[in-house]
Amino acid sequence: IVRLRDVRKSFGSLEVLKGITMDVAKGEAICIIGPSGSGKSTLIRCINALVAIDEGSILVEGQEVNDPKLDKLALRRKVGMVFQQYNLFPHKTALQNVMMAPVHVLKQDRREVEDRARALMRKVRLEGKEDAYPGELSGGQQQRVAIARSLAMRPDIMLFDEVTAALDPETVKEVLQTIRQLVEDGLTCLIVTHEMGFAREVADHVYFTDRGVIVEHGPPRDILSNPREERTKAFLEQVL
Ligand code: ATP
Ligand code: MG
Repeated sequence: IVRLRDVRKSFGSLEVLKGITMDVAKGEAICIIGPSGSGKSTLIRCINALVAIDEGSILVEGQEVNDPKLDKLALRRKVGMVFQQYNLFPHKTALQNVMMAPVHVLKQDRREVEDRARALMRKVRLEGKEDAYPGELSGGQQQRVAIARSLAMRPDIMLFDEVTAALDPETVKEVLQTIRQLVEDGLTCLIVTHEMGFAREVADHVYFTDRGVIVEHGPPRDILSNPREERTKAFLEQVL
């Protein structure tokens, strides 16, 4: 469903992605791990065309992302993304945040959108918080609203970029549980994370990146428990 071939990206003279090749099958959960600055965020931002690549190919459901004629909005409807900063609209309630894009971007019927938004609030285990404003919610709850908001567009693929990195330890678990549920439902997920326990339990496949290259990849038990490469071993010793 996602296919990257020799993807290269530089910011000025800094080469951030040095030939990334990756395949993600429909319904798969893949985790991308690696040190700070290794290009993980840049990599997943390329997949929904937030970052334009210099060379190589990215196919999403058979469509080339590296194409000047690409309809970026259509792509981003298929590929949802959640970031570390949840960026909810502070003056809108949780439910209104979840409803906004389907109503204003997709021009869908308000009633139907609201029914679905309420169902999504239940899905992320926030029933009862529909009318709360972001400022009245914990970081983990806000992040789950952000996930529901993204799901409201019915994406085929979800990108998660260190969505728990800014959260208190107590609320990290509930957000990871929400993502785990989506994976179990069969949604294709690409997850950048520092949560190695989560990657081990949830990922079908783990990619370890460092300085713009994929150093090694494979099933979590291989990469996280029996890494072959010295760079992977050194990284895991630091984070585990
Ligand atoms: P972290 O774990 O800290 O989030 P990362 O693996 O996500 O790191 P990236 O954010 O992809 O790393 O950044 C990789 C490199 O590219 C860094 O050196 C960063 O400074 C640089 N970089 C990222 N975005 C830009 C940009 N828009 N302009 C210039 N340089 C950038
Ligand atoms: Mg990052």
